Amino acid sequence: RAKHDGKNTYRFFDKAMDALMKRRVFLQQQLELAVHREKDLSLRFQPQVDAATGQVYGAEALLRWEISAGEWVSPAEFITLAEETGQILEIGSWLMENLFQQMAIWNAKGFLFGKISMNISSVQLARDTLAQRLLNLMDKFSIPYSQICVEITETTLMADSEMVTENLKRLKQAGITLSIDDFGTGYSSMSYLKALDADHLKIDRSFVIGIGANESDEHIVRATMALAHSLGMETVAEGVDSEEQLTFLQKLSCDYIQGYLFAKPLKADDFEHFVKERQWAINTSEDGIDD
Ligand code: C2E
Ligand code: MG
Ligand code: MG
Ligand code: MG
Repeated sequence: RAKHDGKNTYRFFDKAMDALMKRRVFLQQQLELAVHREKDLSLRFQPQVDAATGQVYGAEALLRWEISAGEWVSPAEFITLAEETGQILEIGSWLMENLFQQMAIWNAKGFLFGKISMNISSVQLARDTLAQRLLNLMDKFSIPYSQICVEITETTLMADSEMVTENLKRLKQAGITLSIDDFGTGYSSMSYLKALDADHLKIDRSFVIGIGANESDEHIVRATMALAHSLGMETVAEGVDSEEQLTFLQKLSCDYIQGYLFAKPLKADDFEHFVKERQWAINTSEDGIDD
């Protein structure tokens, strides 16, 4: 009997593994096509708002993949896969080209969008040409370096690769803003933080969720804010979706807020409307106070 169960269990895992492998291969092939077809990938912009004034600081650019009509694959799944297969290099190039093109359009029409954050994976940063290619592309589209922030995860720092450090230094020297993403989920030490001289620290959504619900998460958020500010960094809280979280973060002088409370990741046009409506609302309410 036991033997029989074991066999069934084996078959079950075998089948599950098989399905996983098939999905991997399928996604990998489809992703290859998507990058070349270009239409299946798109960008969203999630607003980042100044916690004290409510003014729009900028947005994080986030990648979207529509694998077939109405069917979307989450970035959490396909970015991880693309990092493993190396496809992230092509995807990263697609992102840079399309993002800078969009920013050039906005700059040309005088739309003030603030600063755009882009995610860069450690696989890209391990390439010796990354920083130079990014700067060259920005030059090609006449994008001022001050308009871009590069987000890297703690894990990227932990790789402790000389190439990664060189690329980040080069970007920093050029005037690009550097941000540590998903802070608290990895294992970065204080010495990495100091050495990199990053400008922003983004506290991960998993801790923000705990505000008002989990005391140790609140302690972590408080300590992280204090650490960042004492190192002279600005702080961004991601995944803020309630007023209670916002108030808590404002009390800690958190600098910028990103989350569903203000907006989900938006299409370029919708981001433009969001900014215009919001600045208009802020200006009129300030006028109101002055009277
Ligand atoms: P991330 O960089 O930490 O991005 C923030 C994620 O949190 C986004 O998920 C965003 O939609 C989500 N989020 C923000 N506010 C809220 C909220 O209030 N509630 C909830 N439930 N979610 C919120 P998304 O777009 O699915 O991206 C997931 C991850 O995929 C990103 O995490 C990033 O690591 C990666 N990613 C996305 N686009 C790119 C890209 O262009 N390049 C690279 N290398 N990675 C990317
Ligand atoms: Mg990010
Ligand atoms: Mg993040
Ligand atoms: Mg995160």
